[in-house]
Amino acid sequence: MSSTVTDCLFCRIVAGHLPADVVAENEHAVAFRDIDPKAPVHVLVVPREHYGDVTQLASGDPLLLAHLVSLAEIVASQEAAGQFRLIFNTGPQAGQSVFHVHGHVLAGPEPLGWSPA
Ligand code: AMP
Repeated sequence: MSSTVTDCLFCRIVAGHLPADVVAENEHAVAFRDIDPKAPVHVLVVPREHYGDVTQLASGDPLLLAHLVSLAEIVASQEAAGQFRLIFNTGPQAGQSVFHVHGHVLAGPEPLGWSPA
């Protein structure tokens, strides 16, 4: 599903109706710090348009998924010399709790251990 969903947490952040610590943004997507970080750098990259998860985004608008990856790269270049882990939890059993697709950009000054986002 695409467009904006009024009761979606991340649609509300993208619209500026809820506060977030935004670190980068462009016409396609917004990057903001996770409220409960699991790594020294833990930023969420979120398309402005609503898709429920990464599979829906990939099938509905693959170019937008590419833009999301590009924004993750920009965040990592700003904060971690361009090296990062990008995680898309997909489905509740995989740990997805917000059903507006988001990539977890995880990075740090030290090599990352296993840190499920
Ligand atoms: P997931 O569990 O993969 O759906 O990831 C959702 C992420 O959103 C979690 O890591 C939460 O800590 C994060 N989160 C929830 N609410 C907010 C918020 N208001 N601002 C920033 N991050 C949030």
